[in-house]
Amino acid sequence: MEAGPHKVDLEELRDRISWLIRLRWAAIAGVLVTIWVAQRLLGVELHTGPLLLVVGALAADNLVFWGIGRWVAAAATGAGVSYFANLQIALDLLALTALIHFSGGIENPFLCYYVFHIVIASILLSRAATYLQVTLAIALLTAMTSLEAAGVLRHYHLGGFIPAEFFQSRVYMFGVLFAIGTMLYFTAFMATSITSRLRRREGEIVRLSEALRKHTEDLTQAYEALRYLEGVRSDYLHRVAHHIRSPLATVERMLAVVAEGRTGQLPERALEILERARVRIREMLALARDLLVLSRTREAPPLAQREKVDLVTVVQEVAQEFRRQAASASISLLTECPEFPVEVMGDPGSLKELVENLVSNAVKYTPDGGDVRIAVELRANRAELAVSDTGIGIPEDEREEIFGEFYRAASARETGKEGTGLGLSIVKAIVEAFGGELSVESAVGKGTCFRVDLPCDVQ
Ligand code: ADP
Repeated sequence: MEAGPHKVDLEELRDRISWLIRLRWAAIAGVLVTIWVAQRLLGVELHTGPLLLVVGALAADNLVFWGIGRWVAAAATGAGVSYFANLQIALDLLALTALIHFSGGIENPFLCYYVFHIVIASILLSRAATYLQVTLAIALLTAMTSLEAAGVLRHYHLGGFIPAEFFQSRVYMFGVLFAIGTMLYFTAFMATSITSRLRRREGEIVRLSEALRKHTEDLTQAYEALRYLEGVRSDYLHRVAHHIRSPLATVERMLAVVAEGRTGQLPERALEILERARVRIREMLALARDLLVLSRTREAPPLAQREKVDLVTVVQEVAQEFRRQAASASISLLTECPEFPVEVMGDPGSLKELVENLVSNAVKYTPDGGDVRIAVELRANRAELAVSDTGIGIPEDEREEIFGEFYRAASARETGKEGTGLGLSIVKAIVEAFGGELSVESAVGKGTCFRVDLPCDVQ
């Protein structure tokens, strides 16, 4: 405001001007009530005619201000709005002086009401303009008092309130004018200091929130760009996986025909090489399959096809699938499930994929003769799935990384077991889509436990 209102100040100034207009309606009502109370209840002799005339004029100019105010709000510049506010306050001071003049002049205790106008001025106007308004108030008051004392203006005595000769006492007159004058300047000083400090703070807050908004916008844009790139990458992987899967499967079937001797007997060495090629092709097929599952999970999260799925049934089915593989390595595969269904919301395919990946890892990374345990528990409205094993374990510094794509711990690679490094990425994507949580506890050489906590559908 000190250097002319900028955009935000202007908005606020317009807002405050309409507040001033509302305030004036309340003041008009207040004056009418005061006249009524003073006259009817307190028996003060008032010249209501001129007083009501001033109130009428004030109401009329408030109506005009209200009308112009709407136009000013829409069209005027900062300087225009400032002039408008200055004009209103100056006219208010004039109206107050007229009201006081017609109701006792310097005898009237409502003299102190000039303070309100000065406080309002300090809120609406610049510091210099506020001091100008104070000077105007004191000039009006002094002119009124001296003209009344000199007999140029009629003195409307407040009969029944104060002795008649008061207004002619020079000492009283100067005393009151001095007290009111200094009070008004002091009020202007305090109020403008406080408001200018507040305006500075306000300005800082506006600047900060603007900077924050800009940062948020930048971050949103960066996030959108990342999401777009992720989409492009996932789409690309999906296409590649899709295109290599069928030729690989065909090649694998052809090699199987040759390896089974249906095209004639092959030497031992050729069979060995053929078998190695088939292993490699199976690895490639597994990779293509995992890539397809991962991109499908990310593109169409399982919650898109919400339905109730019983976790207990899924666990029993998966355990059944892995029973033979576990038995061939003398691994005991145990399930611990409640007798009742534990239903979660999602799609059955994804839930099965999740359990299969965890159980497959547990069986794969557990040496012969170990134990794998799959447990389901219902806790309040959460379903907890725990897949634990007595396998090789995961070193602590790799426990975060194993959930990243294509990551395989060194200890896992050393086992010579096949793996794509995508299983846990799939598990993580599914758990996130189900709105669940995934955690792992492990001790190297002792075993690992993966815990999945899913929101449950309990009625
Ligand atoms: P992979 O195809 O290699 O099994 P995953 O994404 O399923 O890929 O697992 C990532 C890595 O996490 C594995 O290579 C292994 O190092 C580690 N891992 C996962 N499950 C287990 C487990 N039950 N025991 C020990 N290590 C595990």
